Amino acid sequence: MSTLFSKIIDGEIPGEFVYQDEHLVVIKDIYPKAPVHVLMIPRKPIINLDDLCPEDQTLMGYMMLKVPEIAAQLGLDKGYRTILNTGKGGGQEVFHLHIHILGGAEALPFT
Ligand code: 5GP
Repeated sequence: MSTLFSKIIDGEIPGEFVYQDEHLVVIKDIYPKAPVHVLMIPRKPIINLDDLCPEDQTLMGYMMLKVPEIAAQLGLDKGYRTILNTGKGGGQEVFHLHIHILGGAEALPFT
């Protein structure tokens, strides 16, 4: 299944990349909800947390450890918020797992 984010990863539609490696990419959110708002997306088109299988354990751990690295790269030294929506009822709109990283404001709204 080719998702919107797979198309961005594959260069079929434009995206503003702030980081990429063999496992994941980080792009700027097109509708930022904070001064800094990026999305960490695994290259593997996992739908959401409900779609994970045991073989994804290493990848998910890798992503978690990469979050503070990216936050530091983006200058979020006062803290940041991470959001991972699962399913329509959880506010998920794009069905390719992604972690929102938001920051750069004194106080962030609940998203
Ligand atoms: P979700 O609601 O699925 O957790 O978050 C999806 C996010 O993707 C939203 O914050 C939305 O602004 C962002 N988004 C939707 N379409 C695009 C797009 O074409 N490019 C980028 N960079 N972000 C997108």
